[in-house]
Amino acid sequence: MGPIRARWQPEVLAAGLPRDGAGLYTLARMSAFREQLSARGVTQADRRWYFVPYDQLTDAVGPLSRANPREVGIVLVECPAKASRRPYHKQKLALVLTSLRHFALEQAERGVAVTHLVDQSYAAALLRVRELGPIGVMRPAERELRAELAPLVASGLLEVLPNEGWLTTTDDFEAAAGDKVWRMDAFYRHVRRRLGILMDEGKPAGGKFSFDADNRKPWRGAPPPPAVPTFTVDAITQEVCDLIKSSMGDHPGTLVPDQLPATREDVERAWAWASSSCLPHFGPFEDAMSSRSTNLFHTRIAPLLNLQRLSVHRVVRDVLAMNLPLASQEGFVRQVLGWREFVRHVHEATDGFRVVRGEAQPCKEVEGSDLDGGSLISFLGASRALPPAYWGTRSGLRCLDEVVSGVWQEGTSHHITRLMVLSNIATLLDVAPRELTDWFWAAYVDAYDWVVEPNVLAMGTFAAGDLMTTKPYVAGAAYINRMSDFCHNCRFDPKTTCPLTPLYWAFLGRHRASLATVDRMKLPMASEAKRTAAQRASDAATFDRVSEALSRGNELSAP
Ligand SMILES: Cc1cc2nc3c(=O)[nH]c(=O)nc-3n(C[C@H](O)[C@H](O)[C@H](O)COP(=O)(O)OP(=O)(O)OC[C@H]3O[C@@H](n4cnc5c(N)ncnc54)[C@H](O)[C@@H]3O)c2cc1C
Ligand code: SF4
Repeated sequence: MGPIRARWQPEVLAAGLPRDGAGLYTLARMSAFREQLSARGVTQADRRWYFVPYDQLTDAVGPLSRANPREVGIVLVECPAKASRRPYHKQKLALVLTSLRHFALEQAERGVAVTHLVDQSYAAALLRVRELGPIGVMRPAERELRAELAPLVASGLLEVLPNEGWLTTTDDFEAAAGDKVWRMDAFYRHVRRRLGILMDEGKPAGGKFSFDADNRKPWRGAPPPPAVPTFTVDAITQEVCDLIKSSMGDHPGTLVPDQLPATREDVERAWAWASSSCLPHFGPFEDAMSSRSTNLFHTRIAPLLNLQRLSVHRVVRDVLAMNLPLASQEGFVRQVLGWREFVRHVHEATDGFRVVRGEAQPCKEVEGSDLDGGSLISFLGASRALPPAYWGTRSGLRCLDEVVSGVWQEGTSHHITRLMVLSNIATLLDVAPRELTDWFWAAYVDAYDWVVEPNVLAMGTFAAGDLMTTKPYVAGAAYINRMSDFCHNCRFDPKTTCPLTPLYWAFLGRHRASLATVDRMKLPMASEAKRTAAQRASDAATFDRVSEALSRGNELSAP
């Protein structure tokens, strides 16, 4: 894949300017959808109305799960300005739009009245239908949407209801919270006990809460990973893809229409594939990486969970009923019940890292917009620009180039490549955490503020210090070599010439003062202290050389 087009290069992201060129697309560009919707012939009169945001596409929970379909109506909004606020991957735009339109048709089929609008803001759209009010809405998961809707809530037009799409409560989070730090393990143990999940007479099934230590096997080719499923492209999805190509064609990433699980049946197939083909091997290879499979045994359900096309309640229920090895079953439950829920509480509790431990953090200003561009928190004071390599310019580091290319091809990559390749390398290079977060937010199909910000700011870059994780996740070439096959055909030798190892030492050396306060860094810092002056000078020179070359978009060559 070649580099991404210039208009989406980092300076555009750094400015964070909402672009105004996106224009409203006309209803004529969605004729198949409009025809199918009006063919359902549902009357609009005498209904209780709900606004359903793009990421609450469910009737498994909330008012739609209880009300008589013939007594309720829903308002669905497509917002081109939101789509153009960031250089979102085309595949993400397509998944959101086709899921929303299919949800509209499914609800009309049940007899729910559907008002579908296209407008430059969600608030403007809802004001157009104010005569339906007051309109109910489950509390939006994204802070960005909550901020946009706040004036309508204050005016009484919108009535906010609890979001039933979560498994845990604020009380759960607070019950497990420490004085100064929040730890996923404590939260997870608390909710396992409270909900009685994988518990055996008050004790954790299998004698321990986490089988993480058993789940760190590298993958050497067996068992073979399953092929990623494909789905039939119907007229609605085709229309969405045509719209993306014509109106949003300058967004980055490859659009792959047959990898969009759009209908209810597609979502069922996606989950059936994940359950039967991925979960049996999920645990042991959770941390493995390979150039032969971008996915290995990961489930790819995050985009569907985050849109609520797939219910998290159902997923956990199903997994508990499956006959799976305990390490895989527990490993998966920990991701969904533990990490996923935990990060959204952290996001809420910090107002998206705008207030951390009682201290207000600076935010990125966005000219011409009421919304800020997110927290600029950085525990390590990292402020360098994200190298063009993240936009597809080759760096010569095979691990980075392979993962980046896969992300722009698929709109996703699994947890360890996100953490130990993309975040690790950016952190070693002192890239500004905000820039990396914005990149992840744009590049990944499953990225929304409540999930991408904690994962990148708190976990990936240690920007929030030890608030949510015990240490920065940084490593040299030895880790990548142990857990992947990327090094086999790299121009660098992981044991001798790979720059990541000196970059790791240089990172520890540069941030000695800050990292000395972090308990779990004591051992690595003790090793760093033993490096000779000559080694340190050489590490620092590697940092200067590599960051200079990558910031210019130059490919690194082997010595
Ligand atoms: C730097 C970084 C950025 C990330 N950005 C996102 C993001 O924008 N959106 C997102 O949904 N996840 C994000 N994650 C978490 C995790 O990487 C993805 O949820 C996972 O890779 C999605 O692929 P999958 O569905 O195949 O997951 P699997 O490996 O099959 O895991 C199952 C499910 O567990 C949940 N999960 C696991 N870990 C986390 C976590 N840390 N946070 C939230 N959910 C988790 C997801 O819902 C996932 O679908 C990020 C992680 C890191 C380290
Ligand atoms: S040798 Fe270094 S740069 Fe190359 S793949 Fe391995 S860790 Fe990455």
